[in-house]
Amino acid sequence: MTTIAFIGLGNMGNPMAANLVKAGHTVLGFDLVPENLATAKEHGITVMANAVAAVKGADVVITMLPAGKHVLSVYEDIAPNARKGALFIDSSTIDVESARKAHAIAAKHGLQSIDAPVSGGTGGAAAGTLTFMAGGSDEAFAAAEPILQPMAGRVVHCGGAGAGQAAKICNNMILGISMIGVAEGFVLAERLGLSHQALYDVASTSSGQCWSLTTYCPVPGPVPASPANRDYKPGFAAALMLKDLKLSQEAAQSAGAVTPLGAEATQLYALFNAQGHAGADFSGIINFLRGNKS
Ligand code: NAD
Repeated sequence: MTTIAFIGLGNMGNPMAANLVKAGHTVLGFDLVPENLATAKEHGITVMANAVAAVKGADVVITMLPAGKHVLSVYEDIAPNARKGALFIDSSTIDVESARKAHAIAAKHGLQSIDAPVSGGTGGAAAGTLTFMAGGSDEAFAAAEPILQPMAGRVVHCGGAGAGQAAKICNNMILGISMIGVAEGFVLAERLGLSHQALYDVASTSSGQCWSLTTYCPVPGPVPASPANRDYKPGFAAALMLKDLKLSQEAAQSAGAVTPLGAEATQLYALFNAQGHAGADFSGIINFLRGNKS
């Protein structure tokens, strides 16, 4: 069994680290928020005084932090203090450029590294069914895969440094666009006097079929487990969708990719967030498209 340092024990990190404990690993955890450390203790995670102390005794270091600037600042602190040859796994969702910088910091200190953002949300983190999208060398991926397994439903090696983050933001740009498309379909159906169920029954078995329709349907009824049935309680919060769409647009700009629907989706989610719905599920965008203020 392996000694793993886990830095960032928030909504995702805490249940992910708990699954590593359940798999028999020793987990040394750190977060800036005392309440998160108290929860971590309940999960059997050994709470450390700071990130450097957690990393010193670890063979593997996992970070689950808000954004690129947090990851780079933590890496600058911990990389010089890690065991030579230790494996660094960053599972935060961050921009591709920062991910590549994080790999470079790790390499400078003789460490292996993988960017491995996840899809599946807090439910997937608790159930140990996250999809990991990994970027890095074959050797680092081979070392990371068995560590990720207790937290994962699926682990995909997407390519070299930053490829995991690239896959994540491309996927979530598709998701943001497709949710708006499905929501617009339901709004038009309502104006045309077509029931939600009738549109669902046709589109779910026709060419309009997609995940936003059949798993995350933005109107209550056709898919009982979707957030629309619980007043758009997340789920996947609109603030996180906006974060990922912004990352997709930064990446599109620096790579010279033309993504006009990604740009439009970013604007629509920015307006939805600004109306006070940052904490609502992202499928609640349908209320914004209907012209509802609440
Ligand atoms: P969160 O805000 O709940 O957790 C982040 C944690 O990092 C916080 O507890 C914070 O205190 C801690 N932190 C920040 N700076 C730190 C530092 N210097 N040292 C130690 N701890 C520090 O966020 P989350 O929902 O757990 O998301 C984490 C990452 O996963 C984000 O990049 C997010 O985009 C991504 N993600 C989230 C979801 C989701 O559904 N919540 C799904 C997929 C991916």
